[in-house]
Amino acid sequence: MFENLELWWVTGAQLLYGGDAVVAVDNHSKEMVEGLNNCGRLPIKIVYKGTANSSKEVEAVMKAANNDEKCVGIITWMHTFSPAKMWIHGLQQLRKPLLHFHTQYNAAIPWDTMDMDFMNLNQSAHGDREFGHICARLGVRRKVVVGHWQDAKVQDHIAVWSRVAAAWADSQDMLIVRFGDQMNNVAVTDGDKVAAEMQMGYHVDYCPVSELMEYWKKVDDAEVKELFKTYLATYDYDPKIAEEGTTEHNAVMNAARAELALRACLKAKGAKGFTTNFDDLGTDDINDPNFVGFDQIPGLASQRLMAEGYGFGAEGDWKSAALYRSVWVMNQGLKGGCSFLEDYTLNFDGSNSSILQAHMLEICPLIAAKKPRLEVHFLGIGIRKAQTARLVFTSKTGPGITATVIDMGNRFRLIVNDVECIEPKPLPKLPVASALWIPMPNFEVGAGAWILAGGTHHSCFSYDLTPEYWADYAEMAGIEMVHINKDTTIEGLKKELRWNDVYYLINK
Ligand code: MN
Repeated sequence: MFENLELWWVTGAQLLYGGDAVVAVDNHSKEMVEGLNNCGRLPIKIVYKGTANSSKEVEAVMKAANNDEKCVGIITWMHTFSPAKMWIHGLQQLRKPLLHFHTQYNAAIPWDTMDMDFMNLNQSAHGDREFGHICARLGVRRKVVVGHWQDAKVQDHIAVWSRVAAAWADSQDMLIVRFGDQMNNVAVTDGDKVAAEMQMGYHVDYCPVSELMEYWKKVDDAEVKELFKTYLATYDYDPKIAEEGTTEHNAVMNAARAELALRACLKAKGAKGFTTNFDDLGTDDINDPNFVGFDQIPGLASQRLMAEGYGFGAEGDWKSAALYRSVWVMNQGLKGGCSFLEDYTLNFDGSNSSILQAHMLEICPLIAAKKPRLEVHFLGIGIRKAQTARLVFTSKTGPGITATVIDMGNRFRLIVNDVECIEPKPLPKLPVASALWIPMPNFEVGAGAWILAGGTHHSCFSYDLTPEYWADYAEMAGIEMVHINKDTTIEGLKKELRWNDVYYLINK
């Protein structure tokens, strides 16, 4: 996923101290970039683009970055007293994420040997402030990372931003396809698709289920059998599924065909995500012997496509589909996993009060604690009530983070909540995948703050992401972020929401 991406490193320099100084800085920069690339902590390679010594050179490299598909962001470092007015035109044109790295080639001051030549080469204490001023003056959105380039903690800050930059680039070319519209009357999963494309980059289209059924009709029977075998090899399963002629077997075959049809349709459209709606599954009658189509909402397919990286939102929730895709991209190579989830039902239990996270079917198996089990059960909601396949599992325990984006009318608000996944109890009568979590700082304040902020009942969860990822994401997207965490109080949150309202009235 990240192999073909690049981050460009540009060193701010100038010719005031002569060409020799720039040559030395160039060598330092190369060594620093090489050191970062070899540190084993960065997911995307950094490409050194040389020193920028004038306004024209700055502008040229910014324009090149804008037009280079591989480049997902720019890292700048001012080794010297780099006069920052030369960055104005370039920064005004930069359309890619910016990381301003306040670092220095040497770690400690060489007290005994330091002379004026050394000073001329190692003045980022000075130059990075000059550059910071211009970024602040221009209102350039950026991340500032401070620390020595060989420090692992500093490298980790760059790594976080790199992953977010990759997800951001991915969302600029993201198509979300909606099979069916919004679940009727639901407000929070709706929103302004034009504004979303302007702000977040992704495009949302509608595809009638009848068009999806054209892909269904073309699915090859041999492929269905092959995928069925893959299911049995990958998951634990109800033995009846393996017996031809059983309801269970037929439902899983239907699910395999659904997965192949969905994937073929999404591939043909170049889509990175999709939504479904249990009220819109096509018009064919399931009791007709010539029935063609989904036996129910395509739950197993959605679960597996989510694990593969397709964004998914239930009930037409295109904002969650897009956000889940971004979470999946940021999560690449990390171990914990991620999923679309829904607040399902509450468990009042004193200080362990928690929220069961599940959905009718569509939870991503990447968060499963152990091998998921393939089962077939009746699902009596929606336009087509029938026996249908799904993966059943419970999630890992431990800390994670969940997020949603809502449309406030004059801006998008990202709401983020730190959560603690705890051990659930078995659900013998509710065969769905699930997680059980306590929202931070506790159930009462966490859930209260989420509701006051206007959060959805859907969210995109990850064990691997941290608040820093979401802060970087909000900065790149230029959207509001509300972070509910161990320090949140209802009083503080209400003030923050009011202050933010004023901010967004002024900064339209
Ligand atoms: Mn829902």
